[in-house]
Amino acid sequence: MNDINWLDYSPETQAIRAGHTRTQEDEHSIPIFTTSSYVFKSAEDAALRFTGQRSGNIYSRFTNPTVTAFQERLALMEQGERCLAFASGMAAIMAVGMGLLKAGDHVVCSRSVFGNTVLLFQNYFGKFGVSTDFVELTDFSAWSAAIQPTTRFLFLETPSNPLTEIADIKALAELAHAHDCLLVVDNCFCTPALQKPLSLGADIVVHSATKYLDGQGRCVGGAVVSSHEIIEKSIYPFLRTGGATMSPFNAWVFLSGLETLAIRMKAHCDNAANIAHWLTKQSQITKVHYPGLTSHAQHTLATQQQSQFGGIVSFELAGGKEAAWQLIDATKILSITANLGDVKSTITHPASTTHARLTPEQRLAAGISDGLVRVSVGLENSEDIKKDLSEAW
Ligand SMILES: *Cc1c(COP(=O)(O)O)cnc(C)c1O
Repeated sequence: MNDINWLDYSPETQAIRAGHTRTQEDEHSIPIFTTSSYVFKSAEDAALRFTGQRSGNIYSRFTNPTVTAFQERLALMEQGERCLAFASGMAAIMAVGMGLLKAGDHVVCSRSVFGNTVLLFQNYFGKFGVSTDFVELTDFSAWSAAIQPTTRFLFLETPSNPLTEIADIKALAELAHAHDCLLVVDNCFCTPALQKPLSLGADIVVHSATKYLDGQGRCVGGAVVSSHEIIEKSIYPFLRTGGATMSPFNAWVFLSGLETLAIRMKAHCDNAANIAHWLTKQSQITKVHYPGLTSHAQHTLATQQQSQFGGIVSFELAGGKEAAWQLIDATKILSITANLGDVKSTITHPASTTHARLTPEQRLAAGISDGLVRVSVGLENSEDIKKDLSEAW
């Protein structure tokens, strides 16, 4: 199986079979290589491996067979040439910035990205002379107007959190390339099971493996997927030097997560769609945000760009914050936790948690109302989730 060309196989098969180079022990399951370093055959072998003239493991900060297996598998699933794994999703995003940016450079970033991503660009890259402009995810002309001669890349998540707004990846990739910059997509919400940004023209995909790639809320990890050139020139040197490495144990957990990703994502989407449609018929709910609803502003685009509509549903309660908190506290099986992409359904109040650092005016502008509730729909029976919600409001 070590000489199979996995490009000839479908994603479901790649997810289960690719990446494992069987050792002389003939193991069926991928082993966890808990070794910090590797033994060279000779002084010359050590020298050749260190300088990259000979391939082979060196030191687990940047070469570990279990981590490599995860990287090879995810690269295939995202239709990228190469993948590098990181200690967390934030470490992966940091590596993209550290690898590609220098003082004086500029980034255009969606306003609707993960809160720590905003802080990373604004506060940390900002401290070293990189400026970032934040724009409305779905406003193409705002992206276009924000690009400067020093812009190195555009950065976005689609669907966005928590309102599930959809960006046109193809159009923004063309815009980026016309200005000699790159498009970076955080593919956390869809995963390659639903959306492949690189095949739509994006240059780099980043992941928080913590979410759907694990799928059972066990480990923190991240990944960057891109071309051989970008990884080799810009990302790998930073991983090797900066050291925000994924542990072999976590890689092993994520490898088994990838094996069931396609069927889990389908089940998450089916459950979420079922609940979103049901929510639209409830009198307590004034608005439901889900790309699978025809009422969603980018429903058509979502249909073209994604194979299904994802597992995240947000909705607004007429009673504002009081009603939202009361609902959250009264649910019995949904977990009150900020994590998403778990087999367990989770419920959060974005205005007082993920978006609490924004001023009320900023929240209003971002569409995060006080009555907004986000549910990451898990794999429990959808009737039980509906029962939990309807008995709670
Ligand atoms: C959670 C998350 C991240 C950060 O990932 P960590 O693994 O928590 O560091 C980045 N982007 C999105 C969209 C996320 O949901």
